[in-house]
Amino acid sequence: MSIVVQKFGGTSVGNADKIRNVAQAAIKEHRAGNQVVVVVSAMGHTTDYLVELASDISKNPSSREMDMLLSTGEQVSISLLAMAIQEAGYDAISLIASQIGIITENVHSKARILDIKTDRLTKHLNEGKIVVAAGFQGVTMTGEITTLGRGGSDTSAVALAAALNAERCDIYTDVDGVYTTDPRIVPKATKLNEISYMEMLELASLGANVLHPRAVETAKQFNVPLRVRSSFKHDDLGTLIIGVDLMEIYKPVSGVAADLTQVRIAILKVPDAPGNAAKIFGSLAEQNVSVDMIIQSYETPDKTNDIAFTVAQSDFNKAITILEEVKSQINASKIIVDKEIAKVSIVGAGMIDRPGIASDMFQAISDAGINIKMISTSEIKISCVVEKERAHDAIKALHTKFNLDQTDVIATVAE
Ligand code: ADP
Ligand code: ASP
Ligand code: MG
Repeated sequence: MSIVVQKFGGTSVGNADKIRNVAQAAIKEHRAGNQVVVVVSAMGHTTDYLVELASDISKNPSSREMDMLLSTGEQVSISLLAMAIQEAGYDAISLIASQIGIITENVHSKARILDIKTDRLTKHLNEGKIVVAAGFQGVTMTGEITTLGRGGSDTSAVALAAALNAERCDIYTDVDGVYTTDPRIVPKATKLNEISYMEMLELASLGANVLHPRAVETAKQFNVPLRVRSSFKHDDLGTLIIGVDLMEIYKPVSGVAADLTQVRIAILKVPDAPGNAAKIFGSLAEQNVSVDMIIQSYETPDKTNDIAFTVAQSDFNKAITILEEVKSQINASKIIVDKEIAKVSIVGAGMIDRPGIASDMFQAISDAGINIKMISTSEIKISCVVEKERAHDAIKALHTKFNLDQTDVIATVAE
């Protein structure tokens, strides 16, 4: 018997009717002769609500207590879904991460999964039960509750699929697949029938929140066949995410993404001496702050450099506290901050060895009258930081420039 892992996001379990709809999708897979594990997120905007509630109590809540709080959202939805499946006449059991044994590293708010125990899952599946597992959460070796980062239920689902050697992992959501860009921003976005792990990983990391980046990374690592499909049209096959070797690449650019959740920080007049960059970025890394784009200016006659980089908004307060300390240690002059930025990116395995893609990108952004503040490139992506207010205009311009607009069908997006 094959194992299938299904994952349903917050909007897909937003109310009782939607939970019943999810129950039917799980039952359909079970009736097709598969053993089914369903991973669900918290209902609707529960997690946002809990974050807000915490901020009313504390401006700087401890990350341990945040994880205790946020993990409760998923416990509500798994129990309700198990009840809905039972109500429809099928056997189901809900389990939180500590009951399953989803073991993570000892880091709060963005823990990585280290191991998943499969004994209890296998036992219940062999009893003929549909297992409903809480997404987003884990437990450390010492029994502390952790969470995997916002959007992390996708990663829970793929990791469970890998641990169980599942036949496939289906991510059901409120759009009917992966599009060339967010169809809520560009209604002319085109649905992709398939996309490579590599491109999807870039798009997800660059702001296409349709999949959690670590879910794609895990699927790639363990070769889990991954599909993004609609919660509301169960027969639509959505988008398959597969190895690049299986694809024929026609277009240089497969997708466009925007990330509006970054902040730009610059440290001015850093003395041009060995070890200062290591000190800045080492101190941030020690406290688990990830740094994204980095630019160092050409050294000035007074033998200093300006170093600018971006961090996630959620790490901003922590980053500034660390940097104030480092600034005085290394004798830099000043820290400046720009919160009104967005990173827009183009991604495509087909851009390798095709010159001119970067200049086309800069031209399209400039034709839209938008200024570029930072640039970074890798083999299959180019990113530019622009003014946040103009991010959507930049996305639209790039989508058109790289011939991704579709002319006939408008994207299917559930409200
Ligand atoms: P869920 O609650 O199911 O996890 P998310 O809100 O996390 O759903 O992800 C789905 C959303 O991702 C869509 O509603 C869409 O607006 C957004 N999105 C961003 N980029 C893309 C893209 N390239 N293709 C499809 N959806 C995208
Ligand atoms: N409920 C969590 C969040 O809102 C996890 C998820 O939805 O994947 O981020
Ligand atoms: Mg999501």
